[in-house]
Amino acid sequence: MINAEVNDKTHQLTGSETITYYNNAPESLKFLWLQLDQNLLADQSIMNQTNTGTVKDSIPAAFFTTATGVMVTDYKGGYAIKSVKDAAGKSLSYIINNTMMRIDLPSPLKTGEKFSFSIDWSYTEYDRQVYDGRGGYEFFPEDGNYVYTFAQWFPRMCVYDDYEGWQNKQFLGQGEFALTFGNYSVKITVPADHIVGATGTIQNAKTVLTKEQLERFEKAKKSFEAPVFIVTEKEAREKEKTKSDKKATWEFYAENVRDFAFATSRKFIWDAQAVKLGDKTPLAQSLYPKEANPLWERESTKAIRNALELYSERTFEYPYPVAYSIHSAHQGMEYPMICFNGERPKKDGSYSKQTLYDLVAVVIHEVGHNFFPMIVNSDERQWSWMDEGLNTFLEKETVRLRYPELFGTHGTPKGIAPFMKGEKNQMRPIMTSSDNVRPGEFGPNAYAKPSAALTILRETVMGPEIFDKAFKEYAQRWAFKHPAPADFFRSMEDASAVDLDWFWRGWFYTTDNVDVDMAEVKWFKLQSESVEPEKKKLKVKRGDLKSETTGAKGNANDFSDGPEQFSLINTPEYLQGEFKSRVDDNAIRQKLDGKNIYQIKFKNVGGLITPLVIEWTFKDGSKEIERIPAEVWRLNEDVITKVFIKDREVVNILLDPNFELADVEMRNNVFPKKTTPSKFDQFKSNN
Ligand SMILES: [Zn+2]
Repeated sequence: MINAEVNDKTHQLTGSETITYYNNAPESLKFLWLQLDQNLLADQSIMNQTNTGTVKDSIPAAFFTTATGVMVTDYKGGYAIKSVKDAAGKSLSYIINNTMMRIDLPSPLKTGEKFSFSIDWSYTEYDRQVYDGRGGYEFFPEDGNYVYTFAQWFPRMCVYDDYEGWQNKQFLGQGEFALTFGNYSVKITVPADHIVGATGTIQNAKTVLTKEQLERFEKAKKSFEAPVFIVTEKEAREKEKTKSDKKATWEFYAENVRDFAFATSRKFIWDAQAVKLGDKTPLAQSLYPKEANPLWERESTKAIRNALELYSERTFEYPYPVAYSIHSAHQGMEYPMICFNGERPKKDGSYSKQTLYDLVAVVIHEVGHNFFPMIVNSDERQWSWMDEGLNTFLEKETVRLRYPELFGTHGTPKGIAPFMKGEKNQMRPIMTSSDNVRPGEFGPNAYAKPSAALTILRETVMGPEIFDKAFKEYAQRWAFKHPAPADFFRSMEDASAVDLDWFWRGWFYTTDNVDVDMAEVKWFKLQSESVEPEKKKLKVKRGDLKSETTGAKGNANDFSDGPEQFSLINTPEYLQGEFKSRVDDNAIRQKLDGKNIYQIKFKNVGGLITPLVIEWTFKDGSKEIERIPAEVWRLNEDVITKVFIKDREVVNILLDPNFELADVEMRNNVFPKKTTPSKFDQFKSNN
């Protein structure tokens, strides 16, 4: 239970919260840990003390904030904790260690018992233009109004679990949150002309909405085709001109959520529509200032709907009653039932295809976070990829299926290949603690690389049908629980009968890349006219006839030398063993007669084990794609040789023709080596 009040003049947020904590652990607890995330922006915070940077010849003034760990502005962040009391009003002893607060309990809290306590606090919200962050406010000089997005705004419980006890790793800015589930009843007091959106459903719509707004709100709950405007742009523009001195208190309730966030402004336009998901009809809602139009009124709520539908199909039905998308500049941040998204059109209202994509992608992504990590509640402080990677994968799938005209390479194998080609010794594996990934590599490491890896699993290693079933199983098994990485790895194998140990090891625990070199191609034909089946002792002479006249084979770069010929001798008696019947040597000879036999040597240069996707182009111009599972490397991870039999003569062999393996070097993927296939040209020109 929280009561909070926003001061629109000083930007101070004052709160008073009561937490009832249930000890569901098998052991008793002597103390509780809470997270004081706002202390990240306190003087001498652990982030400022440990962020590193350099001074160059000329440096943008804005860098002297949190980016370099040197803050020279007047803003004073961090919590003022006024009191920490038990249910009887007696002060509790506590200690603050940077972004964590330990509350000592009067007596150990036994298994199954609960403990109620309250905290009174305040802090001043920051200007996100100066302090890039997940919340803050945006100021609009033209009309003198603010859009507030409040995030990590109240002291929040740490997770206590059977995996590591208290998860109280300090907040350093990059590694996000580890949070426990709870029910929230929150009253937010704001200027009376504000519109508030939050985690949860509005409990007092009749009090805070006008009669007309209330009617529109009810209508939106039954509108499945298009959004209904609860506050129009015209009405919002009108409200910008005055500033109410009155206050209004909005009440929200949310059940089984890991966090609570809210946004408030008198600038908000508000549209909403219902989304049909099985027997649930969550309300998709967007709040945005006029500066976001016309892009937002066209695309935001639609993107919420697309995300909810596709994610529900691939995981579980979205269980919450509402899903908000809020606009304020330069954001992309997620909370249960609500997210904050940037991307706005130019001043004249026009926008590029890139801006359209960026908006659609960010709304899908942040709404998608409801599934990972808001419900499948992984530890973000430790493993960013567990929510960002899985979520980027489904974001990419939603864009691919719902916005094919906007679909690009983000989160795909083709998109990640240039990153994977980088210096292996300097990169860090996906399985790296969130704050230990260099900021410049955070995007690929936590988002795009795991998404590309999952795409390879779906499209190439497992196949869509098995992958989708396994992925869904993981999501359903770990919904409203705290999965660790191995829980994901195990579930994917358990539900699919695909051995993926090699895949997790290579893609998640190393910085190796996929680079297969098609090092050698040999072409053979059976020399049928020289075979004398009756001569039982005839030995095989590999490539005997042709090689004598054309010199050493195997170093050839093309097929111009023609096939090497080889002979088939009769199966020797000792190979027949104790069987009374005999192998029909002539029948085998006849099967191979006239066939083209290709022997390919594959070298694993990049280190990652990979399936092989081979495109054969025949003399008549037709093509065939052949897929070889990764188990082909099981006896030798460095080099393998494999034989293929083709009816027709081959003129070109290409590895990874559709860029589905993330092979970082396409030049060694083709035979004949001299010519360059058109797809390689495409790949080069696209990268
Ligand atoms: Zn994300």
